[in-house]
Amino acid sequence: MRYIFDHLNLIRETLLRSPVGLITDVDGTISRIAPTPQQARISSSCRYYLIRLSHQLAVVAAISGRPVAQLKGMVGIDGMVYIGNHGLERGEKTRTKLATDTSDYFRVINSVVKKLAPLLAIEGINIENKGMTATIHYRLCNDPQLAEREILKLVAALPQAKRLTIIKDRMAIDLISPTDINKGTATRDLIREYNLRGGIYLGDDTTDIAAFQAIRTANSPPDFQGWAIAVNSPEVPPELISAADFLLEGVSDVERFLKWLTENTVQSS
Ligand SMILES: [Mg+2]
Repeated sequence: MRYIFDHLNLIRETLLRSPVGLITDVDGTISRIAPTPQQARISSSCRYYLIRLSHQLAVVAAISGRPVAQLKGMVGIDGMVYIGNHGLERGEKTRTKLATDTSDYFRVINSVVKKLAPLLAIEGINIENKGMTATIHYRLCNDPQLAEREILKLVAALPQAKRLTIIKDRMAIDLISPTDINKGTATRDLIREYNLRGGIYLGDDTTDIAAFQAIRTANSPPDFQGWAIAVNSPEVPPELISAADFLLEGVSDVERFLKWLTENTVQSS
């Protein structure tokens, strides 16, 4: 896999295009993984450079499985676009809108979480109900692998969960409303909406693979040139690495890369 700092000439070429957008995942990308999601913080250096980039680029978006309200509080940069719940929600400035009619999904997720809560009342397991999606975290379990198997078994046995999309993330399992919306469709929509001619996507987990594929699909020289960049860690899924164009080693490298971007972005949109 190509280490991005050995191929900055290619990124420099992309930055000469206009408009250019930067889309970044949050947890594990601009925020170091913490024992619980509530303890995670955006790297202060990433925040500093994202603020600068939000003035330099056509669009800077944060995309995450977290709900938009939580994302906005966590990242806290006014000029950014926030895409939450894996693409199902979008927030800009003070507005938040839903990507689809989701009232039915709220009900399904709620009923699944209600059923699972007593079955998963196990030390170290934390179920987060995010409205249109839910995440079961098991990072704090003594035996996370065993916990993962148990959770997947319980979820598979629940009739209410049959309609949901189940995704295995870093020490977490996502239960997602059955729409065709994901980080990939959200990325495609941003490229179209901002008429992007250049794009960079940063991500570290399973749900980012769809976005990597969206970047690849959008690539059509000379109209659009985009790069999918995987943030490596011992927990990273191998499929993400194979789907990426380039690699960064952990959040520290993301900090260095964002700094480089601010110093090498010429246009102001
Ligand atoms: Mg992530």
